[in-house]
Order: sequence, then C-alpha cells, then structure tokens
Amino acid sequence: MTTLITNIKELLQIRDASVNKVSGKEMKHLPSLKNAFLVIENDVITDFGEMKDLPNTKADKQINAKGKMVLPSWCDSHTHIVYAGNREQEFVDRINGLSYEEIANRGGGILNSAKTLQNTSEDELYKQSIIRVKEVMKLGTGALEIKSGYGLTTEAELKMLRVAKRIEKNFPLLVKTTFLGAHALPSEFKNKKNEYLDLVINDMLPKVAKENLADYIDVFCEKGYFSLEDTERILKAGKQYNLIPKIHVNQFNAFGGVALGVKHNALSVDHLEELNTADITSLKGSNTIPVALPSCSYFLSIPYTPARQLIDAGLPLALATDYNPGSTPSGNMNFVVSTACIKMKMTPEEAINAATINGAYAMGLSNECGSITKGKKANLIITKEVPSYGFLPYAFGNNHIDSVILAGKVIS
Ligand SMILES: [Zn+2]
Repeated sequence: MTTLITNIKELLQIRDASVNKVSGKEMKHLPSLKNAFLVIENDVITDFGEMKDLPNTKADKQINAKGKMVLPSWCDSHTHIVYAGNREQEFVDRINGLSYEEIANRGGGILNSAKTLQNTSEDELYKQSIIRVKEVMKLGTGALEIKSGYGLTTEAELKMLRVAKRIEKNFPLLVKTTFLGAHALPSEFKNKKNEYLDLVINDMLPKVAKENLADYIDVFCEKGYFSLEDTERILKAGKQYNLIPKIHVNQFNAFGGVALGVKHNALSVDHLEELNTADITSLKGSNTIPVALPSCSYFLSIPYTPARQLIDAGLPLALATDYNPGSTPSGNMNFVVSTACIKMKMTPEEAINAATINGAYAMGLSNECGSITKGKKANLIITKEVPSYGFLPYAFGNNHIDSVILAGKVIS
C-alpha cells in the first residue's frame, strides 16, 4: 500500500536519522520544506521532497494537502491515561478553596483514584481508558507513554499495566509503559512506608518484570510522598530488572531529585515546576531530558516549568500532557504546545520540537517517531488550511487538525 501526499504547503520537522533530540539554541530551528510531497509505504515514511522533484510514484491512495501543513504526530512522553472513574468532585473542592495537598490529606487525590481502580475489572478499565486513547489519537498524538500508579496493590498495578499493554497491541499508536508503584503511600501503610517499599520492590517489581509489562520505572519523588532515599532504593531495584528511570521530581519542592535522576541515568526528569541552579548544573552534560507538563500547571495554578532557564542553559526540553484524573484531565498536546508558548515563553519552533522529536527521545522512541525521516513510522498530522505553523499555538483552543495518519493509515 503506497500513500502519496502532495502539494503540502509546508512539511515540518525534517530531520536526518542521526538527530535524536535538539537542545538549547538548536530548539529555535524547525527544519521544513515548502510545497512538498511525502510518500508512505505501508506504515513507514519512504520518501519526501519538493513538488518539483515529485517522482513518478504509483500510489494506491493520494491526498492533496494544498494549503495545509504536515508534521509528525505528537509524542506524549508522560501520561497516566489508564485510570478508572474521575475526580470531578475534587475539582469543585479546589474551586471552593482546598489545595491539592489538603485534598490528598482528606483521602482524596491519588488514593481516591486507587480505590476506584482496585474495584474496577480489567475489562472495564480497558473500556474506560480506550475512550481517552481514541480521543488523543484524534488530537494528533501518535506515541504515548502510560504509567501505572493508581493501583497501589500488586494486583491492581499489574491490572493497569496489562491494560496499557492491550492498548499497545490494539491501537496504531506507539506505546511505552512505566511502572509507578511508588506513586503514593496507600492508607493501610500509613506510618509504614518501608513496608510499602518492600512490597513494591519484592513483590510488585518481580511480577511486573516477569510478565514484561514495563519499559521504565518511576517514583513520585516529593515531600510527603517518597524521599530521595526511598527513590534511590526503588531505582536501584528497578535496575536489577533493566528498568530505566523516568521520574516525577520538583513538582512542589526542589530538594535534589533531579541530581538523583541524573546519577541513575534517568531517561527523563519530569515536572520541574520548582527548579534551582543546582538542578540545571546536574542536567548539563547528561543524557537525561527535562520534561515540562504545562497543562498540570494550568489546572492546579502552580508555577510553570521555567523553560527559558533550561533552554537558555543549552539543555533540551520535552513537553507532555501528564493526562491524569487529578491534576490534568486533558490529553490535548495541541493545548500543551499553545500553553508552552503563551505561559512558558517558548517559541512555536521550540514548542513543536519539544512535543515531537524531544518527546520521542523522552520515551526512548527516537528511532521510530518524532520527525519526518525516511524509515520512521508514518505517524502524521495534516492541519487544516493555516497561514503558518506559528498559527497553530497562536490560535489556541481551536482545532487546527484536518486529519491524523497513524501507522500509515488515516484514522480520522
Ligand atoms: Zn505524572
């Protein structure tokens, strides 16, 4: 099956296969071709160029993209998209003045989601989760990282990861899974944190590994949740099973989580709403990519990750949604890209780089997606007719997507 897209107004994010992420000043550059064509064989990009060089390709399907932009689909490297129920009530509680921490202390928050999930069957959890997966695919997401962490019992954590694996198998988007057993301390382990860590390390982790359910390991390293010491214990245990860290750090407090992640060769350190110079220093020269989650800042009214500080220090930055029922009930990467420009002072080029090629790096998928590169998966967004790519984040909240192609097929 050959698909040919012609007359593309601008084909964005053209990269050589050797580029796996972009950092610092390079992020201001978004390589593109005007008046372009693109060829897809089955599910892979096999050729592209300017219309004047259009080869005599016999296509089974032809798409005329006149006036439209084509770019790689979004790579959302941080989500909790598998969950049960919702937390609308807490939304109202917050409007009425309670903080995220106060809600958590009342048995709300992550523990609330965990209770609901524990009482939901695997099939029902799958059914609820794929509604959201289908929705984000339509919004242009072609690669998705999915975390556990709303189970908090061995059985429920395994259930979450099995659902994530079913999503990987049954949908055309690329999926990576992360074991986040240390997301919160279940109430039955109150004042017995070490016992819970023992459960995570000695019971959950071996079972997750045995069923091959996770690519990465994560910890919610935060005051009131898991300390540096706890985090290090988990990361070391994960290493025994070849699980690379991707960790939650610096959401509310900066106390050394970034340096710890770097020390353990974390693929990414995520959140970073609170950031100090020591954090930036520790990231320099490392292979760890910082990930910002602006929808979470928006929803909780907490500070935005200081993107300018990170990028101006020469570092790479990725953007993701953090799609979850408590702090970000939205998986819209288009909104993330707009918010990064509006609130974090990222340029459209920086934000698009952060949501595509750098997002792919942050989930270990650089070889498969994140750019228009021969041999990569044909996961693409075709926009509506827009004046320029800068219009996408500028006209925020509007739907600029005409169609989405995943694994070579038009899905919407
Ligand atoms: Zn998260």
